[in-house]
Amino acid sequence: MSEPVFQRLALIGIGLIGASIALAARRRGLVGQIAISSRTDKTLKRAEELKLGDSYHADAAAAAKDADCVILCIPVGACGAVARHIASSLKSGAIVSDVGSVKGSVIAQVQPHLPKGVEFVPAHPVAGTEYSGPDAGFAELFDNRWCILTPPKGTAPAAVERMTRFWRGLGANVETMDAAHHDLVLAITSHVPHLIAYNIVGTAADLEAVTQSEVIKFSAGGFRDFTRIAASDPTMWRDVFLHNKEAVLEMLGRFNEDLSALQRAIRWGDGEALFNLFTRTRAIRRGIISVGQETPEPDFGRRREG
Ligand code: NAP
Repeated sequence: MSEPVFQRLALIGIGLIGASIALAARRRGLVGQIAISSRTDKTLKRAEELKLGDSYHADAAAAAKDADCVILCIPVGACGAVARHIASSLKSGAIVSDVGSVKGSVIAQVQPHLPKGVEFVPAHPVAGTEYSGPDAGFAELFDNRWCILTPPKGTAPAAVERMTRFWRGLGANVETMDAAHHDLVLAITSHVPHLIAYNIVGTAADLEAVTQSEVIKFSAGGFRDFTRIAASDPTMWRDVFLHNKEAVLEMLGRFNEDLSALQRAIRWGDGEALFNLFTRTRAIRRGIISVGQETPEPDFGRRREG
């Protein structure tokens, strides 16, 4: 058990990420009390049944009141309205944070509403699953994953240090970077891969009338791994693309150019170009395994299938 980093933590939104923070913070003794709020009664009630917190509030402002840390665990596009709503209830010296997958837009939405004396330390835990809601949360979600902090210029170093301690306590490794850089890096490592998965599964679904059950039957050929990503929450991902537009379009442009080069290599029988690329990409996967961000088990640890 660690020393509590915060006496009262308010989680605004209690889905996969909020619930995982609650469970991990409890496990490590990082907080005194946890106040929870969610938009709907249904989710709030479920959080209470799961005993994720100490108090439950239909009004986000009531949860935020007296908290020394308030974390917005809601879709990126909802952060501005919620920040405006809770602003007058924030106590002086409180830290406001979030967990959004896009940082520039969240800063632009939230910062203007925060009163003087409140510090803003945006965060993005690079950890997740394709499940959502409070039942999907688990205490180990952040273990050995990265959490990226993107404090705007002028944020008090002590607030950044405290959030760093909190995320390390939750099990994560912490890195700090500029929000614009975060959005560019995540566009290629997360956002574009999700878009590709949504697209390929959509294309296959459209073909299904022709090939019927074959798409499902032979999915172990690679398609199945895309379907896992493409099962991710529609609201969350809609907001990611709407709020990281420039970086995603930039990376998609590069992706399309490289795809055209591959198309050309196939058309002209340029086996060397294909072989060289596939050799380079295999090395990247080995690198990810060697730093512990993936398992070396064949087929993601599933039983080997055809
Ligand atoms: P989730 O499981 O779907 O939970 C979403 C929470 O936000 C629920 O409490 C929901 O309330 C609330 N909410 C939804 N729409 C809202 C709105 N318009 N206004 C206020 N509250 C709203 O989502 P999650 O996966 O935890 O994601 C939360 C945040 O974490 C997102 O910003 C996402 O980008 C980020 N993130 C997600 C992952 C991931 O893999 N899932 C990873 C890293 C970061 P009700 O249920 O009561 O409607």
